[in-house]
Amino acid sequence: METNRYEAWDDRGEETGPRPWETPERTKQIAQLYESLLIAIGEDPRREGLLRTPIRAARAIQFLTQGYQQEIESVLNDAIFEEPTDGIVIVRDIEFYSLCEHHVLPFFGRCHVAYLPDRKIIGLSKIPRLVDMFARRLQVQERLTRQIAEAIQTAIQPRGVAVVTEAAHMCMMVRGVEKQHSSTVTSYVLGAFREDPSTRVEFFNLIQGASFRIE
Ligand code: ZN
Repeated sequence: METNRYEAWDDRGEETGPRPWETPERTKQIAQLYESLLIAIGEDPRREGLLRTPIRAARAIQFLTQGYQQEIESVLNDAIFEEPTDGIVIVRDIEFYSLCEHHVLPFFGRCHVAYLPDRKIIGLSKIPRLVDMFARRLQVQERLTRQIAEAIQTAIQPRGVAVVTEAAHMCMMVRGVEKQHSSTVTSYVLGAFREDPSTRVEFFNLIQGASFRIE
């Protein structure tokens, strides 16, 4: 393996310069690992089509796992407001892309987030950012769902939080049981959504018109 091959930051034709989620050092280290991986699966990393693949893949995986570089506080910074409302707030159909921690294959789908404010609300655009922060890590869907709910609970202490995710898992679609049409739904509810069945029903009714149906 040539030592200098991934030394220079010369990702020709693609975005130049390190993005906030990547560093030249990490890119170089991961690119070398991808080169070894290509050899291990029987490929020739020196053939033309693969010459820049290790560096592209190294940048892609850093993008897909950038959630490790983020924290709840910085994602929500300055976006928590006092507001005397107590009506349900729902952000529906938040797309997410994550990687399953068992196979490092994508799982992706949509997420619905609801909370019942108690004098504090979160800037609406911050909720999808929070979803991305947890999704862009190695995950299991159940934990992703719970972490989103708990982060909102901690940030604004609402009267309740409910999160539902529906996802397709590449590890079930292209390998293993090879089921292309199955989807996995997980939910996590806290506070009033847990204790008060009518509140829970209201939430599930409000997301019925969303892109998927909860049976
Ligand atoms: Zn998997």
